[in-house]
Amino acid sequence: MLGITILEHAEDQSLSGGRVMNEGEVSTALGLAPNPAASEDICVYRDIRLAELTRGRVHILHMTSRGGLDLIRQAKNKGVRVT
Ligand SMILES: [Zn+2]
Repeated sequence: MLGITILEHAEDQSLSGGRVMNEGEVSTALGLAPNPAASEDICVYRDIRLAELTRGRVHILHMTSRGGLDLIRQAKNKGVRVT
């Protein structure tokens, strides 16, 4: 164990690459290709599982998705060291 907190910008660029804003009503109204929430959720899930596996500590920077927030809440309830 490293004894440090891993800071994560949770974004899967295979889903978000080249997109300028998060998915939502505004992106639809502007006709812009959105960055889907799944891009963040997938990374949050991966990092939680790795923190659980390694008994490490991870902090997700600037959360934007409801799904990611729900994953963090569930993990914290299980004792995973994630913020
Ligand atoms: Zn970031």
